[in-house]
Amino acid sequence: MRSIAIVCSGGDASGMNPALKRFVEYAIANACTPYFVYDGYEGLIDDRIGEAHYRDVSGILNKGGTVIGSSRSERFMLPKYRTQAALNLKKRHIHMLVVLGGDGSFRGMDTFYKEHRIACCGIPATIDNDIFGTAYTLGVDTALGMIRTAIDAIRDTAASLNRAFVIETMGRECGYLALVSALTSGAELCLVPEIPYDLQRITPRLKQQLQEGRHYFIIIISEGIAHDREAIATWLSNDVGIETRLNVLGHLQRGGNPSVYDRLMAYRFVTYAIDALLNGNNNSVVCYNDHTFSYRNVHDVATTPATVEAELLRLATPLCTLEH
Ligand code: ADP
Repeated sequence: MRSIAIVCSGGDASGMNPALKRFVEYAIANACTPYFVYDGYEGLIDDRIGEAHYRDVSGILNKGGTVIGSSRSERFMLPKYRTQAALNLKKRHIHMLVVLGGDGSFRGMDTFYKEHRIACCGIPATIDNDIFGTAYTLGVDTALGMIRTAIDAIRDTAASLNRAFVIETMGRECGYLALVSALTSGAELCLVPEIPYDLQRITPRLKQQLQEGRHYFIIIISEGIAHDREAIATWLSNDVGIETRLNVLGHLQRGGNPSVYDRLMAYRFVTYAIDALLNGNNNSVVCYNDHTFSYRNVHDVATTPATVEAELLRLATPLCTLEH
């Protein structure tokens, strides 16, 4: 029997649990012994590794987060701890590893493979949708659903009290969550790092809307411009002239039970990852573009900055500049 392990690394994302369930079932179906690495690369270093059974994954499909834990690991940046991690796998005859994580996790995975020749396959899993080479990362759909629920609720109070709400989404340097949320929630304005904005040019357009009878605003901003959040709220109060509240959505965006789409994508990503490892594809990331799965070199994926697709930027630009 060959052995194969899975680890969740970096920020958690909804969809990781359905991925773990598929991992156990598909590994066993392929005559492999599945192992869980608990608590990310920290657990890999500290030998928190255990064989996984069907019973470990029953009843987890509908849970957010990851039942095996995740972590950020300073130690994994150092060669001596990566050597310790590799020994923990090798003593169990585990020579294949699936890594669920973001670009940081993939940089670690790339180095780990090159040093220790343990075959690795990455599955992009982050709510930020900010991984180069793939149009979708696991967890995005569920996160967008959580954001939608939050914005809908805030809209109720904004409309009742005649206020502007500045709502900040996650996304690190990537404006994807903010852009999609703004387009699908009827926001009046969206501000993201990808599209330059000039608040003074926007002022007359919002003032005009107030004169025409609008009595509240929903304004979505993304984490990448968080440094401007207070200035944006002050600008709305002072220049546009509407009482304003700031709402940083924070970690609720990471939670929530996985959407149907994320359950299905988890199933598919894991299937492709195990297939890659069983076919001798040793150091790649499963990518999803144009309804098709493919494999990309992990180094390219981990070291190239991601960009938001051009069509989405084009569609959203009027909402970001209020110029048509
Ligand atoms: P994400 O995978 O969500 O982008 P991080 O950027 O925090 O999250 O990376 C997760 C972990 O990957 C880090 O805590 C670290 O253990 C490991 N990692 C990141 N970059 C490297 C690197 N250059 N070399 C080795 N390990 C790394």
